[in-house]
Amino acid sequence: MPALARAVRGRGISIRVRLTFWYSAVLACGLLLFAVSIWLLLEHILYKGLETELAERTRSLAAFIKQELSEPGVHLNEELEEYSNGLPDNTNFALFGEGGTQVFASKKDFPWPITKTGAHEHFLLNERAISLDSHRYRIATAISTEQAESILRLLRVLLLTLSPVVIVLATIGGFLLSSQALRPVNEITQAARTLSINDLSQRLRVPITGDELQYLSETWNSMLDRLADAVGRLSRFTQDASHELRTPLAIIRSTAEIASRRSREEQDYVAAFRQIIAESDRLTLLVRDLLLLARGDSLSAPQMQPLNLTSLVRDVCGELRAVADAKGIRIVEQLPSTEFTIAGNHALLRRLLIVLLDNAITYSSPQGTVRVEMHETDRKVHLEVVDGGIGISEGDLPRIFDRFYRGEGARQAWQDGAGLGLSLAAAIARQHGAEIRVDSKPGTGSTFTAAFQRS
Ligand code: ADP
Repeated sequence: MPALARAVRGRGISIRVRLTFWYSAVLACGLLLFAVSIWLLLEHILYKGLETELAERTRSLAAFIKQELSEPGVHLNEELEEYSNGLPDNTNFALFGEGGTQVFASKKDFPWPITKTGAHEHFLLNERAISLDSHRYRIATAISTEQAESILRLLRVLLLTLSPVVIVLATIGGFLLSSQALRPVNEITQAARTLSINDLSQRLRVPITGDELQYLSETWNSMLDRLADAVGRLSRFTQDASHELRTPLAIIRSTAEIASRRSREEQDYVAAFRQIIAESDRLTLLVRDLLLLARGDSLSAPQMQPLNLTSLVRDVCGELRAVADAKGIRIVEQLPSTEFTIAGNHALLRRLLIVLLDNAITYSSPQGTVRVEMHETDRKVHLEVVDGGIGISEGDLPRIFDRFYRGEGARQAWQDGAGLGLSLAAAIARQHGAEIRVDSKPGTGSTFTAAFQRS
């Protein structure tokens, strides 16, 4: 049995078969226990009844003999013959005198003298000694156990024939029931088999049963929703990325092709090379941002170190001042005297600041001002980049953090850019436990804020 159980528990046997096996095994054990106990109980009741009946018969026979022997002139044998005629068929007795001589036996064919009290084959025995006038007698009574034996035999036959039938029927029933119960699991398996990454639109039928299988189907469906969403975003991102990469590549190729078609003046070649270098730079920046975004999506967290955010902001403002000056735009720093330290990644935070400041400069009106502010509330360092530029339309506001999204203003102003900056900045802020918020009105300007936990 343990070896069989181990084999059933082992690999390669379906849950259906295992469930049926355990169900049948438990049922068989239960039936065995039930059969043995009912058999023992009935045997006890039947034999106990016979024993009581026999003891009663012996007692009244002893009383009868005592009374007969005490009366003078009584033919004891005749009286006993008469007495034995009144006894039921299953009972007989014998009377023994001094030295064990048989005085009387109710049935001649009974194998008297059996003297020991207890159970013999097919009958129970009882003995009693009586003494009268210094004579000692012994009476022995026997009661047949055949009826009890046949009842027990019948019960045994019934139990032995019906139990296997019940077990077989229960096994078939258990198998059908477990097949029925596990059908949704098979459906899930089938659905999972037919699923391909190109078509994640399939959903499972959810059985409204309120049980584990309903929960499993719902969980599976919601996992498919998330998977379809992730795959959709990934494929959109890949499409957008290849679209963005195609334009500078096409420009580089056509510039080089035109320049190489025939011999030209030196300055024409220089102009063509400059164009190619500019497009290559654009490509490099684009690829760098794409790489940063892809890293931001991956699960590995960037290395964080304590860094002085105030001095980083000061450095980036200094770096971009030349770009701003070239457009006649002023960068005003409103930084506190205390230096704020946060846990962050220097390179990523630098990229975030450059995106916000670069946008502020790009979308500012000529001769405008870009203000960079920092202050602290509730141990949070708030960074604000404020410009008085073209602002963002209400339609664009919810989408400017999407990858490759470029606002109306940016497209109209023919500004360079791939629409990756803010999505990258938002991803970096998220990695630092912060969120970038924007407040903007078209024609008035925009304010971008991010709050970092001070360390
Ligand atoms: P890009 O600047 O390359 O277009 P971004 O992701 O940095 O991409 O910005 C997305 C869009 O958000 C821009 O195209 C622009 O329309 C809008 N935007 C971002 N910053 C500003 C700003 N300071 N003022 C006005 N519009 C802005």
